[in-house]
Amino acid sequence: MPENYYIHLPFCRSKCSYCAFPSVAVDRVPEKEYLKALLAEFRFRRKLWPGLTKPLSTLYFGGGTPSLFTPSFFSKIIDFFACEVGFVAAPEITLEANPADVNRDKIRGYLAAGINRISLGAQTFSAAGLRLLGRRHDAANISQAFTSLRQAGITNISLDLIYAWPGQSCENLAADLDKLTTLAPEHVSAYTLSYESGCEITRAVAAGEIVPVPEPLQIEMMSLVEDNLDKAGLYRYEVSNFSRSRIFQSRHNLAYWQLKDFIGLGAGACGGRRCRQGPEQWVERYCNLADPELYMRHLLGAVSEPDGGSCEPVPWSETETVNFSGAFAEALMMGLRLRQGIVLASLRNEYGPDMVAAVLARAQLLQSEGMLDFDESRLWITDSGLYLTDSIINRLV
Ligand code: SF4
Repeated sequence: MPENYYIHLPFCRSKCSYCAFPSVAVDRVPEKEYLKALLAEFRFRRKLWPGLTKPLSTLYFGGGTPSLFTPSFFSKIIDFFACEVGFVAAPEITLEANPADVNRDKIRGYLAAGINRISLGAQTFSAAGLRLLGRRHDAANISQAFTSLRQAGITNISLDLIYAWPGQSCENLAADLDKLTTLAPEHVSAYTLSYESGCEITRAVAAGEIVPVPEPLQIEMMSLVEDNLDKAGLYRYEVSNFSRSRIFQSRHNLAYWQLKDFIGLGAGACGGRRCRQGPEQWVERYCNLADPELYMRHLLGAVSEPDGGSCEPVPWSETETVNFSGAFAEALMMGLRLRQGIVLASLRNEYGPDMVAAVLARAQLLQSEGMLDFDESRLWITDSGLYLTDSIINRLV
């Protein structure tokens, strides 16, 4: 049963130009109502999954912009879980924060509530980049927020970086990496900008207003990121994630990549577990309605149907099942994102020796091409194959 919980807080002050996450821009965060809805959802999930009693190992508050919420909101949730299921001895409790929201009082409150890891959405130190991405903080906010977090005693800070945005040069990225590594975070998540449908930046590209960074330059930038972070003692443990040492790897995200069971609570949150009810029903997943208003109305029992009840109410959470071979493909896809690769014993244990033997047979050609390697215990993607993960997976399954 899951010991990793994700809580989605889908409220922001304004919408960033590249954002495809479920979130809405609001002036006021409905803390009280949303808290009630989250707790109601937990009780509901526990009825569906009666074994939901394991102490939490990781708890992740993502968004949206969780730092818009007050420390007392987090205190109440963390205390609730402490009473209901408890926590393991040293849980990882992460909060995503916008540099513009961080101030000393808030940080002290977050710490007192039990949060021990902060993921700070820096994205870039370039004024032009921050404008293009539609971020509401400036470069000075990042350094100030980081210093305040350190002074308050937070010893596990992750910085998010977005690179290869239109107009960015390698020199500009090098300057970003320099500023970022000077702060000496324990963890960095670095992603190239992606263009999701419905986002402002994607519209601007389609209208010819801006031009994406060409692929060869993106690849050059990816090596620049790895080289600079490596020199600063941050080693890559996943395609886009770097950490100062093993203990600072994101335990929460490792659980995703290793396809462990997890609970997601909140509007737009998803969760899943291995149900193993036969080859057609190996994994069971759910995803909640993204609209926070509707989510709250459903969970707080105040749903009124639009035409007085003659039509079917919108389900607030959709479920799906993944069959055995689909789950196997997902395990390969996620596991190969990790530099340590996939532990073959676990794969055999879950899917049987024949499935694994077939994959290793197919892996031989990729091994001879230098894309992938394996030994008796693990299967992993090499440095040369790192940026071709998708095509490698397609050839493996
Ligand atoms: S802060 Fe994050 S979730 Fe909110 S709009 Fe920006 S990218 Fe999206």
